[in-house]
Amino acid sequence: MITHFGLGGPVTLLMSLAIVDALVKGPVSIAIDLKPALGKDQLRERIQRDLDRFGKRKYQRILEGLLPRKMIAPFVEMTGVPAEKPAHQINAAEREKMVHLLKSMRFNIKGPLPMSSAIVTAGGISLDEIDPRTMASQLVKGLYFCGEVMDIDADTGGYNLQAAFSTGFLAGERAAAYVKIEQKSFG
Ligand SMILES: Cc1cc2nc3c(=O)[nH]c(=O)nc-3n(C[C@H](O)[C@H](O)[C@H](O)COP(=O)(O)OP(=O)(O)OC[C@H]3O[C@@H](n4cnc5c(N)ncnc54)[C@H](O)[C@@H]3O)c2cc1C
Repeated sequence: MITHFGLGGPVTLLMSLAIVDALVKGPVSIAIDLKPALGKDQLRERIQRDLDRFGKRKYQRILEGLLPRKMIAPFVEMTGVPAEKPAHQINAAEREKMVHLLKSMRFNIKGPLPMSSAIVTAGGISLDEIDPRTMASQLVKGLYFCGEVMDIDADTGGYNLQAAFSTGFLAGERAAAYVKIEQKSFG
């Protein structure tokens, strides 16, 4: 999704951890295929067909058949083809620019949104230090972990909530059982 702040939506969320890691190593860009159902040659043919059929139409109107309305002005700017240019005057090089941009619209990534906008955090208490049968700390007796505080992060789709619920339930049950055992042993 192209939003007011940049790229968002489920696919971007899925990619964000890899992107943040990659940004540490150098510049990162994302290329979006706006016409994934068509191969490059098919798209070229489709555009040429429109240009031939609607020769008197202006470039920006030709784009109406290819893009959502809000994307037309930025697309015109990116291709550098004048918005008012009649379709029959669009040459092969300009058509190639259209094909290229539709198949690979590239965005340079400046960085992620701040932590306050994060959906799930990567990092936390290492799973090596937690007993998965009880959620108890392997290092500190009587300490139990669940949810985001642990080093787990899942894809979007409800898996993080499920992890929080499942580990929360288990940690709660086991922590309560631990308290009972401790109380008994102290009489
Ligand atoms: C906008 C948004 C959308 C999301 N959508 C999805 C989704 O669609 N599917 C999905 O699976 N996951 C989603 N998540 C992630 C999911 O909500 C979290 O992974 C999950 O809630 C983590 O549960 P948690 O109990 O570990 O932590 P949290 O839900 O963060 O709960 C921690 C609680 O501890 C409290 N707290 C913090 N410090 C203290 C303190 N010192 N003393 C007492 N209390 C304290 C906090 O106030 C908070 O209530 C979303 C997250 C966000 C932010």
